[in-house]
Amino acid sequence: MRNIFETPVVYLKGVGPRKAELLKKELNIVSFDDLLNCFPFRYVDKSKIYKVSEVTTDTTWFQLKGKISKLKPVGDKRMKYITASFTDESGTIGLVWFRGLSWIKNAFATNKEYILFGKPSIFKNSFNFVHPEIEEFDPMQENVSGQRLEGVYSSTENLKNNGLGSRGISKLMRRLLNQAADSIYETLPDQLISHFKLIPRKTALLNIHFPETTGIIEKAIHRLKFEELLFLQLQILQQKTFLQDRIPGQVFDKVGNYLNDFYAKHLPFELTNAQKRVIKEIRLDMKSGKQMNRLLQGDVGSGKTLVALMNMLIALDNGFQCCLMAPTEILATQHFNSIKKMLGKMDVRIALLTGSTKKAARKPIHAELLDGSLQILIGTHALIEETVRFKNLGFVVIDEQHRFGVAQRAKLWKKNTTPPHVLVMTATPIPRTLAMTLYGNLDVSIIDEMPPGRKAIKTLHFWETKRLRVIGFIREQIKQGRQIYIVYPLIKESEKLDLKNLNDGFENIIRDFPLPEYQVSVLHGRMKPEDKDFEMKRFVEGKTDIMVSTTVIEVGVDVSNASVMIIENAERFGLSQLHQLRGRVGRGAEQSYCILMSGNKLSAEGRKRLEIMVKTNDGFEISEADLQLRGPGDIQGTKQSGLLDFKIANLAKDGELIAKTRRVAEHILSKDPKLSAVENKLMKQQLLKIQKEKTYFGRIS
Ligand code: ADP
Ligand code: MG
Repeated sequence: MRNIFETPVVYLKGVGPRKAELLKKELNIVSFDDLLNCFPFRYVDKSKIYKVSEVTTDTTWFQLKGKISKLKPVGDKRMKYITASFTDESGTIGLVWFRGLSWIKNAFATNKEYILFGKPSIFKNSFNFVHPEIEEFDPMQENVSGQRLEGVYSSTENLKNNGLGSRGISKLMRRLLNQAADSIYETLPDQLISHFKLIPRKTALLNIHFPETTGIIEKAIHRLKFEELLFLQLQILQQKTFLQDRIPGQVFDKVGNYLNDFYAKHLPFELTNAQKRVIKEIRLDMKSGKQMNRLLQGDVGSGKTLVALMNMLIALDNGFQCCLMAPTEILATQHFNSIKKMLGKMDVRIALLTGSTKKAARKPIHAELLDGSLQILIGTHALIEETVRFKNLGFVVIDEQHRFGVAQRAKLWKKNTTPPHVLVMTATPIPRTLAMTLYGNLDVSIIDEMPPGRKAIKTLHFWETKRLRVIGFIREQIKQGRQIYIVYPLIKESEKLDLKNLNDGFENIIRDFPLPEYQVSVLHGRMKPEDKDFEMKRFVEGKTDIMVSTTVIEVGVDVSNASVMIIENAERFGLSQLHQLRGRVGRGAEQSYCILMSGNKLSAEGRKRLEIMVKTNDGFEISEADLQLRGPGDIQGTKQSGLLDFKIANLAKDGELIAKTRRVAEHILSKDPKLSAVENKLMKQQLLKIQKEKTYFGRIS
């Protein structure tokens, strides 16, 4: 029989085609099940009716009872908005509508009492309600419903204007549960429920929408989070096993001249122990006969590129080609240059391919890839274009900084009949809980040691008023032969404004650091590639003292003599970006500095970010803080993964539960990998259902 929860929501009483369309568009609600899984984000005590005189602008919701009068359309020819007064025995408060005006105009009678429900805001020094939910007061209904706590659902302007504000949604939910509550099924085995003291699924769903008591809300939420996270972990772990078991990989069982030569004659320094360990982990993976999907984590400057290169050489020793994909042209170019330099006189054919590679230069690259003579290709997303075909691609390195979409990466998989081994490098370490979900199906290698001789970067925060001191400090450092970065924020929405910002800054800089004593380079995203190269080169070669730049230098750029990073308007950067930028210095043996400049007005969050930066150099600590401050949705690249569309769980807050459900999932699968035992039948069914709904990208690293 067809499951009632699969019924399209349009068939629920009170939802016509128009509302169904809106629910889909605004909240992605299509079926009964989707509606059922749309949870309140807070609760209000419905039995409590506030007085107008009690309204404050805490974020709280208010329920008022009173009369509506003085409905007044504002605007001459075209009505712009409508105001009205809402009055009870304690006072009067303003109401405002900007949309749905023709309806609002005639919606209320002055002699009737209404229940108003909404969140107050402040306008011209007094409180008002913008687009409140209003319904006629019905003394009968109040007596019938014993419900005290009412869920508040998030809604949108568009929904509100169509009778689907929080209250409207709540009404639908009531109808849905009246009709379908008896069909709510269990998804977890009894034994698990009792062991972890969970409440049954049905109880949880009924109570999360219409709680019988205050106390049960928490239990309902816990049960539903547990379920959501457990199924996520089961999925991820099964996928991981699937990858390991089923997908054959190229076998790289030889270590030959390429690696040996490099190791003996070209390696510029001793490897750190962490690098050695990680290279070995990757090597073992690549000869196992299974396709490798591995995440290489290591803080900025920990030496990931070298690790990637040495494993590439192993691929060459086994007769395969490699490619390395980087998120920006500058970074790709830099990888190309530094790898070429490290390889020195070794006989390896290597090429760079980016968006700005000329057609004439592409031709031989394409040809040599096909005949196999080109061994290492480095580039940007230009690498994934259809026209780029390899003779025998064996190893793919993605230096990703979370910037590549999963679908993009998938295309690399298809560049050989047996998929190549894949190594994803991330420079910003991601919190463990995030890694567990986002990359949970990958094996992980961690470089947890910095190359020797590095001094910890000193980070300082200066207010704008102390600029003179900073200028003095920069001069001092330049006198000692050091080079300086000065970075201006770049916000996508307003490239023009940023450029102005940068240009103004540049003018100040050449005033403070005049020629011929000081040489200054500039770099920004709108420059032609050859100009960028030129400026970058001058700086790399030490011909300029100061590099003034937007965040285009954020990732990977490596100039070891640069020892001071000045970040202007530092409060406008996110934490991981600040950490990335800071990582541009501290690469040589000199003491390095990161100076965060900020205006005098800081938001609480902006201040917090700067404090964290001053306090720690540890990328993991910073990424944890980032997750706490911003929530996972904002961390670069997590959105496109689709993995984080949680219905109720929260990656930032539910770290413990994530770890716990991971262990539970591991335990269950260790005993019954396919969930074929009788006691796991419910879970298996639910998992199939979830998998059917979601296009799960997990099988692609
Ligand atoms: P990231 O992990 O940020 O990509 P890189 O690979 O760019 O770091 O390495 C940072 C710098 O450290 C480079 O200049 C690189 O040559 C150098 N480096 C890498 N490994 C070592 C090592 N074992 N000893 C000394 N320097 C190293
Ligand atoms: Mg790097």
